[in-house]
Amino acid sequence: MAVSDHVDLSTFMEGVKKRNPGQTEFTQAVQEVAQDVFGFIADKEEYHSAQILRRMAEPDRVLSFRVCWEDDNHNIRVQRGWRVQNNNAIGPYKGGIRFHPSVTESVLKFLAFEQTFKNALTGLPMGGGKGGSNFNPRGKSDSEVMRFCQSFMTELYRHIGPDTDVPAGDIGVGGREIGYMFGQYKRITNRWEGVLTGKGIEYGGSQMRPEATGYGAVYFLRNMLKHQGHDVEGKTAVISGSGNVATHAAEKVTQLGGKVLTLSDSGGFIHDPDGISQEKIDWIKHLKTVKRGRISEYVDEFSSASYHEGERPWGVTCDLALPCATQNELNEDEAKMLVKNGVQGVSEGANMPTTLEGVHVFHDAKIMYGPGKAANAGGVAVSGLEMSQNAERISWNEERLGEMLTELMEGIHGKCVEYGDDGNGYVDYVKGANIAGFKKVADAMLAFGVV
Ligand code: NDP
Repeated sequence: MAVSDHVDLSTFMEGVKKRNPGQTEFTQAVQEVAQDVFGFIADKEEYHSAQILRRMAEPDRVLSFRVCWEDDNHNIRVQRGWRVQNNNAIGPYKGGIRFHPSVTESVLKFLAFEQTFKNALTGLPMGGGKGGSNFNPRGKSDSEVMRFCQSFMTELYRHIGPDTDVPAGDIGVGGREIGYMFGQYKRITNRWEGVLTGKGIEYGGSQMRPEATGYGAVYFLRNMLKHQGHDVEGKTAVISGSGNVATHAAEKVTQLGGKVLTLSDSGGFIHDPDGISQEKIDWIKHLKTVKRGRISEYVDEFSSASYHEGERPWGVTCDLALPCATQNELNEDEAKMLVKNGVQGVSEGANMPTTLEGVHVFHDAKIMYGPGKAANAGGVAVSGLEMSQNAERISWNEERLGEMLTELMEGIHGKCVEYGDDGNGYVDYVKGANIAGFKKVADAMLAFGVV
């Protein structure tokens, strides 16, 4: 059989599963893209004969390394670190670093794969990568986090650079961790360069970067609603998570006149029927980033709310749902519950928070559904703008960056509509995002020949 002979989707997926045994998150992410791309390339021989999708589903490289550090009691601790450099066809590898006990090679490969399409959708020259460690920052002292970050960077620095690979934050990696890692990179290399994004404003960070992912997810939702003649104003929203993405999504929903009913963490969710106002969001930001507390403490402060231990918020009746915590946090039954309760739009601040079965529920019910790779691309887009500012040694103001973020999200929405409109008034945003992202990266790869 010639290599250009077409294989069907299930044969393709069998191969992916065989080559990546036990990597369920990664194969799930590839399947989600492949099912749309197969339709698109059915009559496009050039992509088949160049084996483009097969090549995209094989990371350029996966780096794995030991991270050794000493805790406050002088115990030697050993963690594993990774950087997955998935694809640099259209620009340097770009994607966050995650510190969480659930991090595995499969999780990072899925995230790096998704990131490749997301970054292409922004229209900025960025390839896809992701990294992290199974280190759990929760309960660690500042000194322990610093020693871990320094040890992690002592290995990572040799693999990254402003034109090679530019990591950023993700779960468990915020301003504090980026500061420690950037400081160590600078110390080792004796170079100040834009090698990480999400930096503090004092040392080369960009205005709007902390807000960008959460705000962007709400702008995407607003664009979806507008496309159908609706608005965020007056609508109720259920949000999961209480980290960077969730709190900024909550802030933007509130600013646009919506009412946020829930937020959560891995312990449970809080439900505040009075709405989580800006003042309450500020209190949560302080709780999470300064006091490093738990969302359950909210009910001690605000008596209008209830805490639901060990539960997720998807049973609360709402117009809008924004999963902003982690992958696979909204399953088929929960999607059905949201639909039954009348949800109109779902916008994913997190990466792959809805299971494949859950996504099918939203599609079958013709719910406006914005997948993470499109809806949460605002974060990496402003990271791309941080890279430009660093390269030019300039900084743009908040107003200008806010406008650029709004325009970027409109552009991403437009690309999804271009490839995802079914002609009957329904937009399949997953299909639109997958095809638009695929096409850009695939065409660049075709130009390079067999590399
Ligand atoms: P943070 O670390 O700031 O917050 C993560 C939040 O999710 C916390 O509330 C955390 O709760 C909760 N969470 C984490 N793991 C689980 C779990 N297994 N079950 C339930 N809740 C969980 O991360 P971010 O806000 O930055 O990231 C959230 C999501 O958004 C991730 O999917 C990330 O990949 C995605 N994303 C982030 C971007 C960014 O710019 N930061 C860019 C694009 C996507 P707890 O405190 O209990 O751990």
